[in-house]
Parts: sequence; structure tokens; C-alpha cells
Amino acid sequence: MKKFTTKSLEEELSAKLMLHFGKTAEEALPGEMMRACALTLRDVMALREVETRRKTRKEQKKQVHYLSLEFLMGRSLMKNAYNLGILPQLRQALENMGFKAADIFEIEPDAALGNGGLGRLAACYLDSMTTLEIPATGYSICYELGIFKQKIVEGQQVELPDNWKDLGAAWLLPKPAEAQEVRFGGKVREFWDNGHLHIIHEDATVVQAVPCDMEIAGYGTEHVNVLRLWDARSTKPVDMSLFSRGEYLKAAEEEAMAETIAKVLYPEDNHVEGKSLRLKQQYFFVSATMQSIVAKHLETCGTLHNFHEKNVIQINDTHPALVIPELMRLFIDDAGMDWDEAWRITTQSVAYTNHTVLAEALERWPQDLFSRVLPRIWQITLEISRRWQEKVEDFYHDPRKTEKMAIVWGGEVRMANLCIAGGMAVNGVSGLHSEILRKDVFRDACGMEPWKFRNVTNGIDHRRWLSEINPRLDSLIKELTGGDEYLLHPQALKKLDAFADDRTVLDRLAEIKLANKRDFAAHAKKTRGVILNPDAIFDVQVKRLHEYKRQLLNVLHIIALYQRLQDDPNAITQPHTFLFGAKAAPGYAVAKRIIHLINSLADQIDHDPICKDKLQVVFLENYRVSLAEQLMPASEVSQQISTAGKEASGTGNMKFMMNGALTIGTLDGANVEMHQLLGDENMFLFGLHSDEVEQMKREGYVPQRIYNRSPVLSRCLDALRNGFRDGVRYDDLYQRLLFGAGGSPADEYLLLADFDSYCQASDRVVRTYADPVQWNRMSLHNIARSGVFAADRAVAEYADNIWRVPHRK
Ligand SMILES: *Cc1c(COP(=O)(O)O)cnc(C)c1O
Repeated sequence: MKKFTTKSLEEELSAKLMLHFGKTAEEALPGEMMRACALTLRDVMALREVETRRKTRKEQKKQVHYLSLEFLMGRSLMKNAYNLGILPQLRQALENMGFKAADIFEIEPDAALGNGGLGRLAACYLDSMTTLEIPATGYSICYELGIFKQKIVEGQQVELPDNWKDLGAAWLLPKPAEAQEVRFGGKVREFWDNGHLHIIHEDATVVQAVPCDMEIAGYGTEHVNVLRLWDARSTKPVDMSLFSRGEYLKAAEEEAMAETIAKVLYPEDNHVEGKSLRLKQQYFFVSATMQSIVAKHLETCGTLHNFHEKNVIQINDTHPALVIPELMRLFIDDAGMDWDEAWRITTQSVAYTNHTVLAEALERWPQDLFSRVLPRIWQITLEISRRWQEKVEDFYHDPRKTEKMAIVWGGEVRMANLCIAGGMAVNGVSGLHSEILRKDVFRDACGMEPWKFRNVTNGIDHRRWLSEINPRLDSLIKELTGGDEYLLHPQALKKLDAFADDRTVLDRLAEIKLANKRDFAAHAKKTRGVILNPDAIFDVQVKRLHEYKRQLLNVLHIIALYQRLQDDPNAITQPHTFLFGAKAAPGYAVAKRIIHLINSLADQIDHDPICKDKLQVVFLENYRVSLAEQLMPASEVSQQISTAGKEASGTGNMKFMMNGALTIGTLDGANVEMHQLLGDENMFLFGLHSDEVEQMKREGYVPQRIYNRSPVLSRCLDALRNGFRDGVRYDDLYQRLLFGAGGSPADEYLLLADFDSYCQASDRVVRTYADPVQWNRMSLHNIARSGVFAADRAVAEYADNIWRVPHRK
């Protein structure tokens, strides 16, 4: 296989510019050059993918199919060049051709086909599955619009469409020959013939699913996998004038459906939207995916009886749960299998990852909508439900458990229960989360089938989130650990622990952080006009805006600091900058109010001379993967302050840790495992534990009592209520905390209960920062022990314990 040199890359890029845009390098615009780069790398990967696929088929290897409604890929150019081992050559080639490499990388739009952690996890796992040389394919929808772009106008979020495909489509390889047809609505007719029941799906609206493949290169391997994104098209672009009236309407309907299905990603994170379009999106990509997998399996093996031995379907949350009835449909209706065998094979093929315990995020579809949109899938789901219910009754003889574990109940289809019944494995995404699933959320199912319930703690692509984005730290690590071992064996980071008392190493860590902070400050100034003081603590909370993530707790503490400063201008000696980044779901009013509040507070502090060089608050608009990549290397404090028991894992926490930021956090999600690795002495823990949260709720939590007892807190809350210099009052947020509103209880997420403890932890952060040796040593330990949070480890666990597929060690 050919290996690029700087010179051959230049030739290739020139050829691409000429062929695709009819331009020379001198004439090309930066966007055209970016696309020429993408096309060049795409070609290399496409060739390798053909070879990977040929081997997989020839050796009839077991394949992993990773289904997710979201893949938050971010940018690919630098990443692919890095994985292909040609990043330095590409940089040089671009410079030689008269471009600034950094500008070309910067111009690439994020492929933001996801909301937050769940979608980013899928992207990190694609990288690891490929690097570990597992034959794997990701499947999702080729949304025309990714997650909206956020602008802040007069302190408030405004959403703009994210037309990522203009430039981003250069990565996509359409495969129209592999299109599938997906059927919606209509009626199901059954008839018996020769002792066989035949199913005819009549009057259905048909949508064509056309695959657009994005090649995924692994690191240090020629193995290439694919992310298959299904685009929706109307089926027959036939002359409409020839249609009879009825057919004309049908055709129009199909065209309308095709146009809307792949139009836009739903922007809700950890919250379900019970819209019929969402259900159609789910079935669209599930059906297209399963049809193509089953067809390919038949081609290579000639039988479906060994389907589960050669395929495993991993579903990222319940969004692709329809794989279960869809596989049953393909086995029974299309292949003529009997129910029992179809069920045996299905339940040995599918595994489900749960991502949340929040009630508002558990998917339940109204039965009438479900049966109307998917009439045949409804019949099958009803039969799955009937048999499952029988099994539960036989096991427990307890009507309350029958009700709790039911799949179809009270006019709804409960997707998590469908996944538990129809899957071979159910995993949570951190130790604590999996424990809560076993002991609480899925307790009864676990009592009946305990072997299904597992844990796989999340991980992140450490090559992207450390090596690629933080070259200074990457160099130091390679120097200290003796080479690039850590890139494929992240546990090699452990060797850094040995340098805890080496002052020169600690000083170099500090220099790297400062240089990264300066870079970020320069970037923030250039792109947003924000002036950041690189000598201030960079204290960061970036993640989706959600009440359970408690950005408001961070705000309350900053208000307290600000009030302290007003009482005593010398109360702060160390400059402290609080950075926020967060998108709110467009329909989530409270989250939007909190964004407004952060901006009001930032403005107040900006305009108060008392705060100069002491306290600053900055809201970074449009938080996304590429912004996270700029920010992580420059961060010093990582805010992971969710109400204990609510954050399933978190992965932002891991990105910060790997880049040497220290965590202030609750014992929630993967923070618990970070704490086990680091001890009290290397992170700043605070707050109630998850069992204490539950207990407090049971016993009747009255936040007003805390308000009445604490003068600091009550002063903060009163300030919040009255607002700041922009004249906006936040009485609504005040009311929510003290009295509850709109059906939610007072201070649902226990901000007031944790406030004191949080303030104390924050004071410890500042005191520790004053001792640079101590701080840098803690930072070193964080980096050294972050190796377990590499996605390679997580994917290897899935491969060994759930998928049962071999992988590179
Ligand atoms: C990692 C990441 C997330 C997840 O952050 P959490 O703090 O784990 O919620 C969300 N959005 C983006 C853009 C990310 O890169």
C-alpha cells in the first residue's frame, strides 16, 4: 500500500483541485483545499476498506454493528491524517502549496450529528474499534442539519441551522447500489398457504434509504471501518403526470416523508421527544441497517441459522430498539423461520447500552402512534410483549412486577423493557450507574435474568483527546515514558507517577499548561473578541445545559464569591476565570434561562472595577467538539458537579483529567472511579452521595430551611432574584429553588443541600492552586492515572465480554 510523502501529497492535492474544482493551488480557496485534502485521504481509506472487507468476508469473521441515532464526529481532517501517520507530511505539503495548515484544519465544519456525550461516545468507539482491528460498522442517519449552531444575542441563546454538508460531504461516499426500501403505515394482510402464514404489507409509504459511507481509519493499522449514514430519498422519480389520482397522492406523500426523515437531528439531550417523525427516523435507519446486514450475511453464509455467530448488534441507548422486532420480521416474514428459532437468534445477537436513569429520558411510545406508523412491527412487538409477560408471571407470580416489567402496558410501548427482553446483555456506563440499574431501575429484570446485567465504564479516544490536541503534553509524555507506547497502550501513562517528586518535570507541566492557556486566550480573542488573563485559574464547566448537571450551583457559588469581593476587595488574591459552554435544547425553557443568567452575571462582573484581574465569567458560545479540543489542553479546573446518581458516566470529566485539569466533583458517574484511582488527595470531592440523595428525597427535603439557616446562601439567592445591571430578574429560578414550579418539586436537584460543601471544596481548590508544586503534582497524577478511561479499554471489554470478538492487544 502506498505511503504518502510530502511530495506525493502535493501532487495528489494538485490533481484533486484540478479534477474537482478546475483550479490550481494558487487559485484554490481554502474551502476547496480542505475538500481536496478530504478527497485525497478518503481515497486512501476507501482502498484500505475494500481490503479490510475482503478479509472479513473471506475469513467469515464475526462483525460488530454499532447502531446509534447520534455520532458526534467533529472534524476529521487532522484526525484522519494523524491516524494514517501522515499529519506532518500533510502540514508541510499545505505550507509548500501556500496555505497555512492550521487555517485549512480550522475551516472544516464539525460533523455534529449528535447532542453530547452519547453521540461523542459512539464516535470515540468507532476509532477504538478500528484501531483494535475489529470488523465493525457504525450506522446512523445522514442528517442534513446537525445540532444547531448557538449564537448568544443579548445574553440569550439563538439557534441557527448547521449546514455541515457543504464542505463536510467531501468525506462521504454515496453507495446508491446498496439502497434499501423502508415501509411505513399501510395495512397488514395475512393469509395461509401450504401451512405457512404469509404477511403482505399493503398501501405502505415507501422511503428509499441510500447509504453514504464515511471511512474510519484506525491508528497504526491498515484496518479501515465505515460509518454508514443513511440518507432518505423518495422511491420512484417517475413522471408524476402518468399517475392516477390515488397514486399521485401516495407519491407526493412518499416524497414529503423522504424529504423530512433525514432533515434534522432532534436537539434534545437526555430527554425524549414523542414525535411521530422521531419514531420514523428510528425505524428508517434500523430497518435499512438490518435489511442490509441480513442480506450480506445471506450472501456470505447462505443461511440465517448462524446469524448470531457472525454478527452482533450493539445498540446505543434504546433509540435503535426496533432492531429487535425488525430482525424478527426479517427472519419470520422474509426468511420463513419459525418464531422460536427467530427469537433464539435475535436474543443472541442484540446487546443494549443504557445511558440514563432520568425518567424523562426513558423512551415510551404511544401504542396508537406505534401501530399506525409501523403496523407489522406492532404485531410482532405485541407478541414479544405477550410472551415476555407470561415468562415474568411464571417467575414472580406478582402483578406489580408484571406491570413494571411489561413491554406493552397502559397504551404505551416501553423501549427499555423491550431491549431487556430481546437482548443478550444490558450494560450501564459506569460502576455506579450499572449498580443503580441492577439495584433500582431494572431490579426485577435483574432478579429474573441476572447474567444479562453488566458494566462497561465509558472511555474516550485518548489519541484525539490528548495526543492530537495537546502536542506539548504529548511530547513530554513520550519523552518521560520512553516513546509512543501509550498511544496503543494507554496504561503506559502510569509511568508518569514516578516523576511526582521531580521538580523539573512538574515545572515543565506548568509551562505546558501556561502555553496552552496563552494559545486558548489568543484563539478566544481572535474568534470572539474575549480577553482572557492567562494568569487566572481556568475553571471550566462545559457540557449540555441541564438542571441535573447543576450549572446553576456553579453560578450561585460565583455570586457568593462576588459578594465576598464587595465586602472585602482583598478577599480574592488569585485571579479566577470561570468559563462556561453549553447548548440548551430549544424547548427547554429553564435551561435557556440559566444561559441568560450566566451571561447577565458575566456582564455584571465585567463592568464592576472591583473584579478587575480578580474575577471573570465568560460564556463561550456554540460549545462543540472542535471548541472542546481547543479548551481541554488549557483547562485547570474541571467542574463535574451533577446531583449524585444522575450522571450515568460523563466523558467530559475524562477529557479534562487526561489533559491535567483537577476535578471538583460529586461522587457521580465515572467520577467515582476517578476517585478510586486518585484518592481524596488528588481531587476535590464534595456533596451528598447517591444513597444520601435518595434518602433525603424520601424523608422530605425542604430547601427553605437551608435558606433560612445560611446567610451566605440567602444573600446569593436574593441577588439572583433581583438580577444584575442588565435589569433582567431571575425570580423564576429563585422560585424553582425554594418552592418548586410547573410540577417539579422545590430544588429538585438539591443545589441548596450541596451548596456549603461545594463552597468549601472550591476554597480548597484556590488554596491548593497557591502551592504550584502541590498543584502540578496532582495534575501529573491525574494524567498518569487516566489511562483506564481510554476508549480502547472500554471497547476491549465490550469485545471480550459481550461481543466475543478477537481484537488487537
Ligand atoms: C465530551 C463532550 C460532551 C460530554 O460532556 P459531559 O461533561 O460528559 O456531559 C458533550 N459535548 C461535547 C461537544 C463533548 O465533546
